[in-house]
Amino acid sequence: MSSTMHLTRRSFVGLAATAGVAAMAGGLLSACTQQEAERAAKNVVETDFVIVGGGIGGLGAAIRAGETGKRCVVLEKEAALGGDSALSSGTIHAPGTKLQDAQGYGGDTVDAYIDYMRLPDARYEHPGEPLCRAMYAGAVAMVDDLNAQGLGFVPLEDWDPRAHNVEGAGGALVAFVKQQAVEAGAEIRLKTKAEQLVVEDGRVVGVLDAAGTLYRAPAVILATGGFTNNPAMVQQYVPEYADVRVISSAGAEGEGLVMAQEAGAGAVALDAGEHTYFVSTESMTDMSLPPSSAPGIVVNIEGDRFHAEDAHYDTAGKLGMKQPEHRGYYVFDEGVRAEYDLFEDYFAEGIVIGGAPLDELAETIGAPNLPATVAHYNEMMATGVDEDFGRETFLAPLEGPTYYALSIEPCIYYSYGGLDIDECAHVLDESGAPIPGLFACGEVCASSEVREGLLYTSGLSQGYVFGQIAVDAATEEA
Ligand SMILES: Cc1cc2nc3c(=O)[nH]c(=O)nc-3n(C[C@H](O)[C@H](O)[C@H](O)COP(=O)(O)OP(=O)(O)OC[C@H]3O[C@@H](n4cnc5c(N)ncnc54)[C@H](O)[C@@H]3O)c2cc1C
Repeated sequence: MSSTMHLTRRSFVGLAATAGVAAMAGGLLSACTQQEAERAAKNVVETDFVIVGGGIGGLGAAIRAGETGKRCVVLEKEAALGGDSALSSGTIHAPGTKLQDAQGYGGDTVDAYIDYMRLPDARYEHPGEPLCRAMYAGAVAMVDDLNAQGLGFVPLEDWDPRAHNVEGAGGALVAFVKQQAVEAGAEIRLKTKAEQLVVEDGRVVGVLDAAGTLYRAPAVILATGGFTNNPAMVQQYVPEYADVRVISSAGAEGEGLVMAQEAGAGAVALDAGEHTYFVSTESMTDMSLPPSSAPGIVVNIEGDRFHAEDAHYDTAGKLGMKQPEHRGYYVFDEGVRAEYDLFEDYFAEGIVIGGAPLDELAETIGAPNLPATVAHYNEMMATGVDEDFGRETFLAPLEGPTYYALSIEPCIYYSYGGLDIDECAHVLDESGAPIPGLFACGEVCASSEVREGLLYTSGLSQGYVFGQIAVDAATEEA
């Protein structure tokens, strides 16, 4: 393959759809020998770590490389760092932090968190949960260290005191760790797309970028994020999500996964699915909050309820995918509006429909069963029991006389499947053996939680923690 061969995103997707992702990638994102790489290379950079991807995983690794006195080059194909990490809500789940101790939630442990998170009907399991244990312990250190160094967190809340929310969300988190990586000496190269892993005698020894620069290093860390923004890969691995809206950064195209597979890497849980939540159909504004934070109801486009509104946001999103046209409405009345502040932002944004009697609203949104649904719901609320779906919170009738609706639909934003790694962040081959010289962290890897039978919560710590573990492991093994 020529290292200077380029494809637009459109042709990348088009080809993939017809020829299959793996076959297509074989000619474009792939592996080559050192000799081939040297022949193709226009110039060569020698370093200690090549880190591919400048989100939380890549930057976490770069910080640790600098702390241990190693040189590193971070390759980021976009014009700015951040990837999905910068888009994220900035919530880091960690059990047993100093912030928890200081705010009255002391005594928490990794064991307690794992017990709480274990799914009874999980498709995968791994007794001992080695990856999750490493990740949660690392998440505690991540929160404690970043906070000690000046990163702000909003106060913890009773409903989930393990959810540490960075002040300023993912954008602030990325800006903070970028600064730290730069201060630690990382060389960051933007608009630099890695295209091939260089493999010599079974060992990964470098990376070739799209412009023909060869980066040679004893350790390569893939931190390229997930594949949610690659329609061909979504179609191939999780086709049931193919026509669902996407919230993911432009760079989340699965390239690290493809490159590593071309070098012999194994993958896990590729067909396990995507994480979902409700967004506004009009504006893509996050709509996961209203159903679980106020007494309105969620209906499909016919006007029928289909789940307990206080279900986990991902459960709600996945049920939403099964509804006609996989969309629906959150319906509330003027009493709910008056009592709960969160709706005023949606009014200001201009995405609230209605302000009308129920029949009129039902007609406006084309949901014929809505009046009967509300009447039945109000009857159940008179007894305080949701006999249909078992909703347990915000049990109150919707009595109008003025009603409103928000148009909602699920989006996908996190790929569960990805590279197979061990607790030292080594990328494993298809037989489960580490590929020498190759490490990975973050969303390019399969979710530690999903593959070990727990509920997914941790994208940011999976990046930062395993990025740092990768540097430590490579340093120890050198
Ligand atoms: C809307 C949203 C909200 C979220 N909220 C949370 C949350 O609150 N808490 C949480 O834990 N997780 C959250 N997540 C998930 C989490 O953000 C991601 O799992 C995590 O940020 C992934 O980090 P990463 O470093 O692996 O990848 P990314 O942050 O996506 O970074 C990967 C980088 O690699 C670059 N790249 C890709 N291919 C190449 C290539 N070939 N060459 C060079 N560069 C390349 C990309 O451009 C990108 O910048 C959220 C995700 C989204 C989309």
